[in-house]
Amino acid sequence: MLARASSVAIAVLCLVDVTSSAQSQSAEPTTILFENIRIFDGKNDTLSASMNVLVRGNIIDKISKDPLPIDRAHTRTIAGGGRTLMPGLIDMHWHAMLARTTIAAMLAGDLGYLNLMAGAEATDTLMRGFTTVRDVGGPVFGLKRAIDEGIVPGPRIYPSGAIITVTSGHGDFRQPFDVPRVLGAPQSRGEQTGAAMIADSPDEVRVRVREQLLLGATQIKLTGGGGVASPHSPLDASTFTEAELRAAVEAAENWGTYVTVHAYTPVSIQRAIAAGVKCIEHGHLMDEPTARLIAEKGIWLSTQAFPDEMADAFPAGSLERSKAFEVFAGTDRTFALAKKHKIKTAFGTDILFSRKLAQRQGELLAKLVRWYTPGETLIMATGTNAQLLELSGKRNPYPGKLGVVEEGALADLLLVDGDPIANIKLIEDPAKNFVVIMKDGKILKNTM
Ligand SMILES: [Zn+2]
Repeated sequence: MLARASSVAIAVLCLVDVTSSAQSQSAEPTTILFENIRIFDGKNDTLSASMNVLVRGNIIDKISKDPLPIDRAHTRTIAGGGRTLMPGLIDMHWHAMLARTTIAAMLAGDLGYLNLMAGAEATDTLMRGFTTVRDVGGPVFGLKRAIDEGIVPGPRIYPSGAIITVTSGHGDFRQPFDVPRVLGAPQSRGEQTGAAMIADSPDEVRVRVREQLLLGATQIKLTGGGGVASPHSPLDASTFTEAELRAAVEAAENWGTYVTVHAYTPVSIQRAIAAGVKCIEHGHLMDEPTARLIAEKGIWLSTQAFPDEMADAFPAGSLERSKAFEVFAGTDRTFALAKKHKIKTAFGTDILFSRKLAQRQGELLAKLVRWYTPGETLIMATGTNAQLLELSGKRNPYPGKLGVVEEGALADLLLVDGDPIANIKLIEDPAKNFVVIMKDGKILKNTM
């Protein structure tokens, strides 16, 4: 606990140092040189020979095996000592507003409290080496803005805004006494906070999608079938009709971006694909024909290896808890199908309602070596995830290349004390093993 607190303190001090130098003293270093490092570039599963990497502003400017001619007075040099420089990690299924809070606090809905908690969690997320997250549901626009403005340290956020669902669908947390809903009646608490919006016709879906785009959504998230954490939706249920899904796709594509759909079952996955959806979240209950369809159509699968402890958010004997284990049972088969059919697969964690689990974000990535080599695992969480981010097109809030170490890419970098391909367990303990964390060219942590 003390170690954690002090690493955050170091990080915050470094941040203050960097921003004040950038603002007030133009004589301070304007470039940062990583000397004598080996590169994991986010694309290949081997490390480079010893290299030098120069960061200028927020861009990786030069990579060279020969010494780089630099102006020493204006360059901060980090002697890498043969350590590994790699791209910042990316989590493609994150809920920045929901990861640390409890279900009770979320439903009570004090947004000030939830935002402060999410801000603290965002700083911890960044200090775990996750420099980018795709947020697939939650009122996250204010947090994103505060991070982008440097008010609170945190990862880059690709926000979906509110999850869009149907009456009784995954994300509808209303109580039985809230129905029937009369047309024109006040919104439920979940809708007021922007966590989830309920839509029951193609026209309503269009309105809700366009509202999220107005707020700055970089992609749109719908729930196409039942979910674990929701009180009213059975896992086998299909929710939106194809026409409703197509309305969302049309509105998103008119805005230059795409729809991703929460779906576990073959029916809900196939219906989403028929409607033009570009990405499936989860997919744990899919069958072989569905896997073949996903592969043939070039659809992304954003899936997760959920830890059993995730079910602890739900009381013993509850329906939610039994649904959780039904989903977990599909994990092995889903990864096997994804590999067999060479499905474009993205890594994410989907941590909800648990600070303890959030602290294991890197460990959940390392867990993928059950199905992939360490190199494949690390490529998935960097270069591959970044390819899925590119589907946001011109709605991308961070123009530039992410997830790779190459000249011209955005400088989101981790310096790892060791070789994470030879020993992927290094990413399970970021406080110890990530000795430098850089986001957008700024050093957030440096224990060298
Ligand atoms: Zn989720």
